[in-house]
Amino acid sequence: LRASNSIIQKETGFINGLITVLHDITEQEKIDQERREFVANVSHELRTPLTTMRSYLEALAEGAWKDDEIAPKFLDVTQTETERMIRLVNDLLQLSKMDTRDYRFNKVSVDFVEFFNRIIDRFELSKSQDVTFVRDLPGEAVWVSLDEDKITQVLDNIISNAMKYSPEGGTITFAVHIEETANQILVSISDQGVGIPKADLSKVFDRFYRVDKARTRMLGGTGLGLAIAKEMINAHNGDIWASSQEGKGTKIFFTLPITQEEQKDDWS
Ligand code: ADP
Repeated sequence: LRASNSIIQKETGFINGLITVLHDITEQEKIDQERREFVANVSHELRTPLTTMRSYLEALAEGAWKDDEIAPKFLDVTQTETERMIRLVNDLLQLSKMDTRDYRFNKVSVDFVEFFNRIIDRFELSKSQDVTFVRDLPGEAVWVSLDEDKITQVLDNIISNAMKYSPEGGTITFAVHIEETANQILVSISDQGVGIPKADLSKVFDRFYRVDKARTRMLGGTGLGLAIAKEMINAHNGDIWASSQEGKGTKIFFTLPITQEEQKDDWS
């Protein structure tokens, strides 16, 4: 803490007050430190695909473009890396908008069960790997006020992680439970994948945090998916957390408040 003092003095010369302002410099230092780390992370994340692209483009320019077999492969690499950079920049823009509160929610009341089913259907129809989907959802409508695009993005991030880390033949379970006393829904998505070590559990929601950098980079991740999910769920007055057992699987939970059904005025 740093203190700065100001004396309040009357024209007559009498001192009749003293103002002490305490600045929490440790907090400021922490913010500065985080900002520096963030810039270092972004630079690193962009440099990796750029240097990869440079070497493949150099090889192409030096003659590989004439090789019918090699050229398409090298071009494919540069395309993959470009797409990774686009994903990264889009994720960064999203986070920056949330940080500066430069976004507007377009909240509507939706039946979460129907909404969730639609998203799961999309993944089920396009999945190429051998995973089984299990749905444990209420048999009735549950009304939640949400921004459909934002919560779709949250679910996309969580579900694509569950798919990425699932073993062949694994099961992914989608559940929604109604918690009446808290007036909220508890949503969970669980997989039977590699899991997350205990020490890393709370950190996976931090920006750029990855348990295994090399592996997740190979899987095309940006390290920002869960950080974005957390910002969005918090902005909907919900919480998000994870539980996991290494080698057994991971379960991501989040809550969202239930919308009160419109009360009919009953004055008569
Ligand atoms: P990424 O783009 O790297 O997937 P995320 O923010 O989505 O970034 O996730 C952060 C890290 O949390 C991942 O790199 C991975 O190490 C870990 N993780 C997230 N979901 C799972 C999961 N379902 N199973 C195992 N590890 C996971």
